[in-house]
Amino acid sequence: IRKQKLIPKAQYGGRHAVTMLPGGGIGPECMGYVRDIFKYIGAPVDFEIVDIDPTVDNDDDVLYAITTIKRNGVGLKGNIETKSEAAYVTSRNVALRNELDMYAYVLNCKSFPGVETRHKDIDVVIIRQNTEGEYAMLEHESVHGVIESMKVVTASNSERVARFAFEFARKNGRKKVTTVHKANIMKLSDGLFLETSKRLAKEYPDIEHNDMIIDNCCMQLVAKPHQFDVMLMTNLYGSIVSNVVCGLLGGAGLLSGRNYGDHYAVFEPGTRNTGTAIAGKNVANPIAMINASIDMLEHLGHHFHADLLRRAVHKTINVDRIMTPDVGGTASSTDVVNAIIGNIGLNH
Ligand code: ADP
Ligand code: MG
Repeated sequence: IRKQKLIPKAQYGGRHAVTMLPGGGIGPECMGYVRDIFKYIGAPVDFEIVDIDPTVDNDDDVLYAITTIKRNGVGLKGNIETKSEAAYVTSRNVALRNELDMYAYVLNCKSFPGVETRHKDIDVVIIRQNTEGEYAMLEHESVHGVIESMKVVTASNSERVARFAFEFARKNGRKKVTTVHKANIMKLSDGLFLETSKRLAKEYPDIEHNDMIIDNCCMQLVAKPHQFDVMLMTNLYGSIVSNVVCGLLGGAGLLSGRNYGDHYAVFEPGTRNTGTAIAGKNVANPIAMINASIDMLEHLGHHFHADLLRRAVHKTINVDRIMTPDVGGTASSTDVVNAIIGNIGLNH
């Protein structure tokens, strides 16, 4: 949902400051492409770049990143690594989402006509609880050899994300919300999540609501994905289902995802991969990060620049079919970026 209060005010000259967190792996090179393209199209955005050292054991860098996002209201990020093995050093990506209370994750999963896949014309939106559930990071060894890991589900967060999903469906002309769960086994935690969504569904009679158990959902997705419209789920199921759907659409290099709270928004590649093995080889698919940057432009109200870039990406992938090897092409990352710049068609 794009709430009015969520969108930061532009600075002098209509420009916005945005926190850029390149992260590890292919993050920095993909951010370089975004910066080149933004420069070319004259996007009215100034990036405040914050590098996070994955090897240090303290949270100073990530706290600084959080401070800048609070100031700017918006972030664009790659996946941040945590290299420390100390158990008390938890994922910086999770810390960032929790600190900024970005309780909803939205992944628009729409087929690219130019990318060959088993199923055509998939159009699903995954809405994932983004701050609790299995990602509570509360694990302990109660007695030697017995680890307990807490999955935290609260009524308030279940309600917020369910409302987000129904509002999203209504505002975007969607017809159905499917709550995905395992409430037959996790009767209390997933039970609360499911019951909350059923209760909210009554406030949205114009939107059809059903529910599906996570294991069946995975089977249905790979076999008959067209039955889904908006999908609502807890954190870990959201991560797994996002990867299933991205796989169906052509892998990790295409889709972008959006993290929303009531105050801040952060945009990133949809499956949140680091891509360490392919970093620095000019083979990473730059589209996921470029799509994240388009989402960001759209969020800031820079529709002209978002459209310009969206059309150029569409032409490059779906018409010219200039693609990296992960989606069946032979182009390098920079070939794709140069083709996009060529397709923007400005006479600079
Ligand atoms: P993780 O972040 O969990 O380590 P990986 O970085 O290994 O995940 O990513 C999973 C797979 O997706 C790898 O095979 C990786 O090469 C591939 N991948 C991720 N992002 C991209 C991208 N932008 N372009 C091409 N392949 C990608
Ligand atoms: Mg990963």
